[in-house]
Amino acid sequence: MTNDFFAPKLLAWYDRYGRDLPWRHTTDPYCIWLSEIILQQTRVVQGMPYYYKFIEAFPTVTDLARADEREVLRLWQGLGYYSRARNLHRTAQIIVTEYGGKFPQTYHELLKLKGIGPYTAAAIASFAFNESVAVLDGNVYRVLSRIFGIETDIASHAAKAEFTSLANQLIDPAQPARFNHAIMDFGATQCVPVSPQCMFCTFNTVCEANATGRQAQLPVKSKKTKVRERYFHYLVIEHEGRLGLRERPAKDVWTSMFDFWLVEDDRLLDWETLSEHPLLQTLQSQLTLEQESTSYTHVLSHQRIQAKFWHLKTSSEEGFPAELHFYSPDKIEKLPKPVLVVNYLNQFFES
Ligand code: SF4
Repeated sequence: MTNDFFAPKLLAWYDRYGRDLPWRHTTDPYCIWLSEIILQQTRVVQGMPYYYKFIEAFPTVTDLARADEREVLRLWQGLGYYSRARNLHRTAQIIVTEYGGKFPQTYHELLKLKGIGPYTAAAIASFAFNESVAVLDGNVYRVLSRIFGIETDIASHAAKAEFTSLANQLIDPAQPARFNHAIMDFGATQCVPVSPQCMFCTFNTVCEANATGRQAQLPVKSKKTKVRERYFHYLVIEHEGRLGLRERPAKDVWTSMFDFWLVEDDRLLDWETLSEHPLLQTLQSQLTLEQESTSYTHVLSHQRIQAKFWHLKTSSEEGFPAELHFYSPDKIEKLPKPVLVVNYLNQFFES
């Protein structure tokens, strides 16, 4: 299939069915970058409020660079992969300190920036600076593998080179931004992962997957992430209306977010077993168990966490792990917290 065929057909489809998204009305690289990082985490509908919140709180890359990391994490709360929020913040600081607050204007220069990978560099270069460079995300892999019947495992290094080269051959060099938006929209709304709408598809007469009934087999992706099972026992310590929370350490999920005193085990424990924890034993005389929650399941891409919360009242704030500090409800509201903790707190303050 030639470029003369593919790009015009795709762009005609986009004219009719393309989505009108706020970040498509700007060529500001900062807004484009922000939207792309948010969309790597979530779908458009869920990502939109986050985009507006960030733009409002930090209208420029300099504002983001100067922000307190806690504030950045708090705004990111609910999107998951908090390391991305920290990287976003750090990259903003690099752009300000090393580039005078101005984004580099080419794909290759953008790639030199720590925290900006090939996908994001291609998105910024094409959407902000109209450079003819193709984006390659999950949607593009799916669309191209199906239309061209490519069976290369998209988790492999070989696939990256093969699909990048193909996408760059297909792109319309006169309108790279529109082409990139179009192919991503086509994957997101027409050639969707499950039950693509082949009967009404503009490519159905030339699509290999459609011709051979291989829509469900393409793209080929072999690598399966092993899911780690974890069991969290949260001790929610209350003293005179204030709750004990701590900042989570590095090198684990939710770094720098706040949660409660945590006891982790290889299974969910009952109170009898949990209360044998040595520190709980020493604090026994000052603690009263108020309530035990039902268990919550929180699924991350690579971990499945089952959690229970034990609400305990204490007669003193002494004797707890050093990292635990007591906060009033309005202070807690301002701390960045994992969604699991937010969900529990919503119920806690409601009851
Ligand atoms: S015919 Fe079906 S599989 Fe092929 S591009 Fe269209 S929607 Fe995707």
